[in-house]
Amino acid sequence: MSWKFDYLIVGAGFAGLTAAERLCTQFGKRCLIVEKRNHIGGNAYDCYDDHGVLIHNYGPHYFRTNSPRIKEYLSQFTEWHPVDYAILSYTEGRFWNFPINLNTFEQIIGRESTSEEMEKWLEEHRVTINNPKNSEEVIISQVGWELYEKFFKGYTLKQWKRHPKDLDASVCGRIPIRTNRDDRYLKEDFQALPKAGYTRMFERMIDACGDKLHLLLKTNYRDVMPHLEFDHMIYTGPIDEYFDDCYGQLPYRSLRFENESFTPEELVERETISGKPGFWQPAMQVNYPNEEEFTRIVEVKHATGQLCGNTTIVREYPDDFGPGKEAYYPIPAPDAAALYKRYKEKADGESGVSFIGRLATYRYYNMDQVVGMALAEVSKITGTYD
Ligand code: FAD
Ligand code: UDP
Repeated sequence: MSWKFDYLIVGAGFAGLTAAERLCTQFGKRCLIVEKRNHIGGNAYDCYDDHGVLIHNYGPHYFRTNSPRIKEYLSQFTEWHPVDYAILSYTEGRFWNFPINLNTFEQIIGRESTSEEMEKWLEEHRVTINNPKNSEEVIISQVGWELYEKFFKGYTLKQWKRHPKDLDASVCGRIPIRTNRDDRYLKEDFQALPKAGYTRMFERMIDACGDKLHLLLKTNYRDVMPHLEFDHMIYTGPIDEYFDDCYGQLPYRSLRFENESFTPEELVERETISGKPGFWQPAMQVNYPNEEEFTRIVEVKHATGQLCGNTTIVREYPDDFGPGKEAYYPIPAPDAAALYKRYKEKADGESGVSFIGRLATYRYYNMDQVVGMALAEVSKITGTYD
């Protein structure tokens, strides 16, 4: 006997849940989501750890968007906690303001300065490149070699195990560089976290679907396919895996997270560094571009605004991808794009399947972009372009 649905959705991350919510509530379709992990939310999943601290389990997830439509869509399921995401960089034995701005410039020259002086300094140091083609060029063409080597080169080598020259310009190009005192890490208009966390927001999306939606956790879709009948599949897993790696595996970077928690008593001696009680470090994220093996330490309690005596920090170590490891990052580079193109052509020839999300389209997409992609795909497959 088989189980009948209108849609089979593989993956309960932002892409799969957005598609499911729209198909169930707007179009009355019956959907099954099959998720191999033991929780919803994909990489945006958050939860309270054993110390009562709300953490982002798969690395920090800073929601941001320039799209009023995407904000409005998600606002049906959450209120927002506005955050000006601010981070620091730590190298040469001290903290630096980061992304590079006038404050960083003053730290470098060791005295007060002005935007005009900084612009002049940058003018003298930057390398003239009209059309930066890679991540090295995009940074040296804005700030020159010295700042590139201090803040970008080592971090990028650690994170991607590739030289910045061998990565698309968009990778380092997404970090803003400013000559004013704007300290925010991100450029987008709207920057906020779901007030009660991502997982609560995802639960509300699922609740909205009522009995139109079935959810199977801890299940690989391949194991249930023989028992299912459906009209259309929405696939949000890795595209190479869908096609049994027939052209070879796409390159990915993985991560290892190391969590450490502290009680209020243990934090007292850190106050000289963190600057306030209840925190371990002075910002929500500190980047380590050089000596250390990890790339960043995240103390997300700074951003969530949670009132909690304990705190948890997470050290993030880049890792090779392989058996038993998660494919966290597609690698934005020309060789990977060429291999992806072959899979994309194969996907275009596949009838009755939509490939959406970060892994199925092999794009270094942010959450809002994935939501936008899922909304657009639902419009397309239901023939309701707006
Ligand atoms: P995913 O969240 O990966 O969901 C796909 C789901 O499919 C997973 O749950 C997976 O288990 C499931 N799946 C895969 N294969 C199968 C199978 N065979 N059977 C069943 N289920 C399967 N974005 C931002 O906007 N801001 C940030 O600050 C930010 N920080 C990030 C930090 C890190 C460390 C990482 C890795 C990503 C970050 N992102 C950030 C990106 C964000 O995570 C993604 O844009 C978003 O989560 C992608 O959603 P998705 O549904 O496409 O993929
Ligand atoms: N980057 C860097 N130094 C930093 C921060 C970022 O060189 O201090 C580069 C690095 O290549 C990184 C990319 O910029 O992968 C994008 O950084 P972001 O913090 O946006 O990465 P994500 O949060 O997606 O891992």
